[in-house]
Amino acid sequence: MFSAAMSSSEPADQKVYFRCFAGCEGNHSIYDVLYRCPKCNSLLEVYHDRAPLRDRNAYKWQQLFDSRASTTNWPFGSGVWGMREWVIPDLRDENVVSMCEGNTNLFWADRLGKQFGLSELWIKLCGNSHTGSFKDLGMTVLVSVVKQMMTMPSNPVQAVACASTGDTSAALAAYAAYAGIPAIIFLPAGKVSTAQLIQPVANGAHVLALDTDFDGCMKIVQEVTEDHSIYLANSMNSLRIEGQKTVGIEICRQFDWEVPDWIIIPVGNLGNISALHKGFRLMMDLGLINRMPRLVAAQAERADPFYQSFKTGFSDKTSVTAGETLANAIRIGDPVSYEKAVKAVQETDGIVEQATEQELAAASARADLTGMFTCPHTGVALAVLEKLVNRGVIKPNDRTVVISTAHGLKFTDFKVGYHESTLEGITSECANPPVYLKANTQVVKDEIEKRLSAKA
Ligand SMILES: *Cc1c(COP(=O)(O)O)cnc(C)c1O
Ligand SMILES: [Zn+2]
Repeated sequence: MFSAAMSSSEPADQKVYFRCFAGCEGNHSIYDVLYRCPKCNSLLEVYHDRAPLRDRNAYKWQQLFDSRASTTNWPFGSGVWGMREWVIPDLRDENVVSMCEGNTNLFWADRLGKQFGLSELWIKLCGNSHTGSFKDLGMTVLVSVVKQMMTMPSNPVQAVACASTGDTSAALAAYAAYAGIPAIIFLPAGKVSTAQLIQPVANGAHVLALDTDFDGCMKIVQEVTEDHSIYLANSMNSLRIEGQKTVGIEICRQFDWEVPDWIIIPVGNLGNISALHKGFRLMMDLGLINRMPRLVAAQAERADPFYQSFKTGFSDKTSVTAGETLANAIRIGDPVSYEKAVKAVQETDGIVEQATEQELAAASARADLTGMFTCPHTGVALAVLEKLVNRGVIKPNDRTVVISTAHGLKFTDFKVGYHESTLEGITSECANPPVYLKANTQVVKDEIEKRLSAKA
């Protein structure tokens, strides 16, 4: 049923392949075990030949994507696979590993926007996804390609692996478990919380807690994956970008194919902002949109190498030793997708800005008071938004989207610590701890009256 719908919607002779992001000649199959350019060691990118995609005009593409957005016709109900011709066109149906990721809500944050003086603030809730972060968008693609590789006669791959302390390992473990492919997760022993450990543990991954830090884990996973029987799923793998790029396309679709003025996104390894840009680039090239949004990369001050590079006009790639930050998913000192992200900022007249621990915690807490439940990374983006509005860069009527990268429920330690006023170095101005009272009606009435009159 779905296969008929699929083959009739695919333009003929569609070509998609790895090529060197730095421009070396030569194409490579996306089903080869390859993470970097064999000539110059740069990152690869998945490239889609434009000519066959032009067989369908811009309006027809919009209509096609619109028509699939709410369907139960598997796998088109996934925000990623609803755009499969733009993602991995030759992936066979039986190899699509999807749990209906994407198509996350984009909602108008009316009250919060008004507090900033903005008439149109929108929040794209990427954390409302299968494992609670946008990482699902990339992992559905990577694991699907691996599943197809494993059907090929010459296939060496037997398992997938990544080093991570958080959202990447959760997404990899879940998608690998769904596909029945073994997953190996490398974590620094004693440096991850129970919450960060528990998703891969529950999904049956081989969780290896090593006697080292994150960088030590990264080094070992790269060495272990040299022999090609274990496929590396860290974000230098550009297959993940193909899934993540759908978020920008999805935002435009949700605005009836209008382009917002600004998109603010919290960044660490710089894969996600590269992906966002790649989606917009493809829409521009195929005529679905006629301008770019301005992209804002938001960093935590304690892990801000991209901000430091931006300040020098990107004359140098800066690396820092990333300090401890509440926004632990973006605690990265030497971002792997630097070159791609520089292009994303330069081609969109973008900006890089940063936020302190106090600023991100305060921004997150204030947003929660308008009905959200924001993760600390979303707090970084909201703090940066406030700075740009106050500086007059973002204007009151600019349509502005903040990408919320994870669900706040994955970061309950941060929330509890904030409201108990126990976060080190943070003043919890909006702390709202419960009040403990005697079970006595008059005591309760007095407390309610005191509180309601105080807030009036
Ligand atoms: C991975 C992640 C980021 C950063 O994305 P990069 O691609 O590394 O820049 C931001 N927020 C959350 C919640 C993440 O899991
Ligand atoms: Zn190269």
